[in-house]
Amino acid sequence: MEFKDFSLFIKDTKIGSTFTDALVSGKIFGTRCGRCGRTFFPPRAECPDCLEESIEFVEIPTRGRLLSFTAIFVPPAHYGIPRSKMPFAKVTQIPCPVGVVEVEGGLRVMGWIPDVDLKALQVGDPFEVQARTLKNGQVTIVLSPI
Ligand SMILES: [Zn+2]
Repeated sequence: MEFKDFSLFIKDTKIGSTFTDALVSGKIFGTRCGRCGRTFFPPRAECPDCLEESIEFVEIPTRGRLLSFTAIFVPPAHYGIPRSKMPFAKVTQIPCPVGVVEVEGGLRVMGWIPDVDLKALQVGDPFEVQARTLKNGQVTIVLSPI
């Protein structure tokens, strides 16, 4: 999977393409420290607790609760939301919900909450995190109410 399909330079990091290739296949990977066993999301190349560089990729739980959310008005281009055609106008007036879900085990996953009325969201709602390939071919993490 090429860098252009993602918003970050993930492929150029020590994490490499393992994380992004998993997203394309619909899986969300974190990393587990080979020494202390602590699991991280987003994936880390080294353990910040014991400085171990031996890590393994593990699929993280996908169900949890909405921990926090907000609306952004300049969504990332990879969300594929139409923007104003006015010159220099980079702001859309449509609120784009984003949030953080704490999945089972305590890892926190940030993502886009598409197709949901912002006023209907409440902290603590049951949510699922998913890797989704968008219409434009790019991949992102979305959060969906269960
Ligand atoms: Zn460790």
